Amino acid sequence: MIEAIILDWAGTTVDYGSRAPIIAFKNAFAHYGVELSETSIRQDIGIDKKSHVRKILQQPEIANNWEAAHPTIPLATATDEVYRQFQHEITQVLSETAQLKSGMTELIQFANDHHIQLATTTGYTQAMLDQLLPLAAEQGYQPLVNITSEQTNHVGRPQPAMVELAMQKLNVTDPAHVIKVGDTINDVLEGKNAGVISVGVVEGGNLIGLSQSEFEQLQIEDRDRYQMKAAAILTEAGADEIVMNIADLIPLIESIDDHQREMPLLLTPGPLTTSPTVKATMQVDHGTWDDDYKALTQWVRHQLVTLGNASDDVYTAVLMQGSGSFGVEATLGTAIPRENATLMIAANGAYGERMAEMATYLQIPFITVHAPEDQPITMDLVSEKLAAHPEVTHFAMVHCETTTGILNPIETIIPALADKGIVTIVDAMSSFGGVPIDLERLNVDYLVTSSNKCVQGVPGSASSSRKKRPWQPLRATHVHWS
Ligand SMILES: *Cc1c(COP(=O)(O)O)cnc(C)c1O
Repeated sequence: MIEAIILDWAGTTVDYGSRAPIIAFKNAFAHYGVELSETSIRQDIGIDKKSHVRKILQQPEIANNWEAAHPTIPLATATDEVYRQFQHEITQVLSETAQLKSGMTELIQFANDHHIQLATTTGYTQAMLDQLLPLAAEQGYQPLVNITSEQTNHVGRPQPAMVELAMQKLNVTDPAHVIKVGDTINDVLEGKNAGVISVGVVEGGNLIGLSQSEFEQLQIEDRDRYQMKAAAILTEAGADEIVMNIADLIPLIESIDDHQREMPLLLTPGPLTTSPTVKATMQVDHGTWDDDYKALTQWVRHQLVTLGNASDDVYTAVLMQGSGSFGVEATLGTAIPRENATLMIAANGAYGERMAEMATYLQIPFITVHAPEDQPITMDLVSEKLAAHPEVTHFAMVHCETTTGILNPIETIIPALADKGIVTIVDAMSSFGGVPIDLERLNVDYLVTSSNKCVQGVPGSASSSRKKRPWQPLRATHVHWS
């Protein structure tokens, strides 16, 4: 069971975008007539601030600028001087940037309810921390133990000393029961070096570096790109887990607890283990005509389109009460006319064959193109078959052929067929939500998935994301998301 969470400050629990240290470094160097770019500051963020000043001064371009501006002050003295100025600057900005990030209130409540102790480590000095603590306390955040590198003989991140001291003070000995959370590479390394569960937080972190209003003004695709990039950097640094919002630690902790209690673990493809949050959601009965339920449905539909990196203007998600196969059958049955249409099905495994079986039952005229079960479908195979069958109007294929694990190259085949005016249908049951899929770039007409595979919900509902076409009114579909 998780007994303690050790949290970083700026960019993790307070100060969305980790603005305070950036502004203070900039102002401190500007005081000496040296301009800093944000990138040059962010490289080493998370280490103790004096070492950080030294590192910045060692960057060749900055060292040159410093020497040009202050030929008589050697670099060693410069570190001391700039650091003194930094301390002054940070006290100016700390109070403005001490606001708790969204999700913190939920996390604090959860930790209280579950007797999980909260502690912090930081690259800030004791003096800076002492300024921050009352501001956080006013907002209901009062970690039990707060460590700076002054308490560990100036051994800071990425060394594990601060985490180890925090654990000692909390009287927690098993590192498998401790989570360290932070938004920088040095945070992740600190956790790894301490042998605890090291978690990277993405939203509002240093690696994105934007203020909340800057971030919220971005297009959804750009937000996604920023987040994916930050997540990739933290993963690369060795993070055991990545969360987007800090409140996402709640389901993570619940699933770690389940795992440590050796609850049965169902593996993807689904039905798979659902998180306690998903299970808890099922405890509530919903009236399908109630406004809050309708809003929830719209939210699910929007989230599915967003997961496909698409905009609601171009794609829409149609929810259906049934299994994944139900979704495929419904899509084949409604997207393809029975006359003046020919479907080509590419099959290299059981789910491809199942589509052929469905087409037979539905009396859809179809031809198949086969690849061996241990080979992907290729564009060459498809083109060859198409040349022989110019009557083809619709095309269907499976993305991940779950029965063999072969991942078929939809990224090359689907846009090419769409360009020829062929209506395309993809069964992405066991890939959507697991393998990145860009609906708009794919230009796919219909993509079918289900709730119980990579989306990690309970079985019983399928969704077909479809491209909106101005000349085709959207079918109103009965919706039941269980
Ligand atoms: C699982 C799966 C299906 C069928 O989904 P059910 O919910 O089991 O009916 C169809 N296609 C693929 C590729 C799958 O992995």
